[in-house]
Amino acid sequence: MTSYRAARVKEGWRDYPVISMVGNFSPPVGDQPALLTFNEVLTLFHEFGHALHGLLGAGRYASLTGTSVRWDFVELPSQFMENWCYQPSELAQWARHHQTGEALPEDLLHRIQASQTFLEGLATVRQLGFGLLDMAWHDRSEAVEDAAALEREALAPVEVWPAAEGNWMSPAFSHIFAGGYSAGYYSYKWAEVLDADAFERFREEAQNEAQVAADFKALLSAGGSEDPMVLYQRFRGRVPRPEALLKRAGLHG
Ligand SMILES: [Zn+2]
Repeated sequence: MTSYRAARVKEGWRDYPVISMVGNFSPPVGDQPALLTFNEVLTLFHEFGHALHGLLGAGRYASLTGTSVRWDFVELPSQFMENWCYQPSELAQWARHHQTGEALPEDLLHRIQASQTFLEGLATVRQLGFGLLDMAWHDRSEAVEDAAALEREALAPVEVWPAAEGNWMSPAFSHIFAGGYSAGYYSYKWAEVLDADAFERFREEAQNEAQVAADFKALLSAGGSEDPMVLYQRFRGRVPRPEALLKRAGLHG
């Protein structure tokens, strides 16, 4: 998703946002139309979440509307949208066989849902480890004397098996040393907490979906004009909780 112009009000005129989505998806082959893989569909929904964030921007200042929010809040709308790809009722509306029009068979959907939790425990501690290591490097003011000890200490809480001798993660951790995620790597997992918890409200209040959607729209429209936690609590009625994410990951008993 690319934003060419964010929503804003200038000299009494409202500028509407200009946004595009360009994907590098599976192309059509011969007479067959382009058939997207499930991951491509997830990407499409993900990017559409970013696009919605920009399109619904209703702020006064371009620097505070749409996706111009704090770094650890920007993936909430996009990851939130991915949840719809696993919901039978929503899939039934569009996930159809391109020749027969048949809906996605239930057993296939169950396999997709099951694949969501495959090796999730390992993936979770791996992500937490990256976040802890990032913070270990960035929450100190004194020089680091022993980089290996710092890494060992930071990763100890999530160690699944003893680290192999001579195997260091930090020199290859390009996200924090070359990728702009310094002291912000945690935001990947944090955004998952937010998106799972926010989506849970749509499940809990399915009968009240129009109101929940209106509240979520209000959260998106506010962009970065208010503190994310204030916006989130207005939507959810409370602070975010990790239970919905743990349940989705198959890690909640
Ligand atoms: Zn994204």
